[in-house]
Amino acid sequence: MKKLEKQTAIVTGSSSGIGLAVVKALAEAGAKVVVNYYSSEEDAAKVVDEIKAKGGEAIAIKADVSDEADVENLFSKTVEAFETVDIVVANAGMQKDAAFIDMTLEDWNRVIGVNLTGQFLCARSAVRQFVKQGVREGVSCAAGKLICMSSVHEVIPWAGHVNYAASKGGVNLMMQSIAQEMAPQKIRVNSIAPGAIKTTINKSAWGNPEALKKLLELIPAGRIGIPEDIAKAAVWLASDDSDYVQGTQLFIDGGMTLYPGFAENG
Ligand code: BGC
Repeated sequence: MKKLEKQTAIVTGSSSGIGLAVVKALAEAGAKVVVNYYSSEEDAAKVVDEIKAKGGEAIAIKADVSDEADVENLFSKTVEAFETVDIVVANAGMQKDAAFIDMTLEDWNRVIGVNLTGQFLCARSAVRQFVKQGVREGVSCAAGKLICMSSVHEVIPWAGHVNYAASKGGVNLMMQSIAQEMAPQKIRVNSIAPGAIKTTINKSAWGNPEALKKLLELIPAGRIGIPEDIAKAAVWLASDDSDYVQGTQLFIDGGMTLYPGFAENG
């Protein structure tokens, strides 16, 4: 039996980037998956087709994670289609970068809305569903698993990205507080904090040789990450292999959080 068989996983923002790799990996591990998207319907449909072609079960559902009614609809449609929700990866995220002095309230609100409030809404719906279901014997030791997608910027301050860093700092304490509150009900809550992973969100940081050289100075491991680096960890955090892991943030960053500037200084 595959590790995540008989389980359903929702991955928000999974028509591209890290979410895409995560949703494919969860499907390969046996989960029925929901590919959530907001604007890229065609991409989401392609992901669904790809998963089905490999023998998996998948559907696409549109939702703006910052919208309460959309998130509620995402969960009710999932239950309608697959009966349970066992794994939720609150992954959808965005950047709207600006010098702080010029940052508009709109740029602030949108990033906090998607990255932090969006994770709150998904986490709340997830936990409500997990509590309702309870532990399903023979399926998983947990009543449900929630994985929040954070960032190294939950601890590394980031000039020019104040809204983004604030949202991820918020994700960390939100995740830990939910983990503390829900552990007695056998709900596991953890996060993944990726470093620089090669996706479109940070193309300006790796898309040309000079930028990449500068970026690699921040990564002791000497390479940029790939979405699959994150996907493998997500499968582990979603499975009973990590049953005793609760309220932890897993940095997957090639050492970016190790203050690499101090390797030959200080
Ligand atoms: C950001 C990327 C950035 C990385 C490392 C991520 O959370 O979305 O744009 O490259 O952190 O700085």
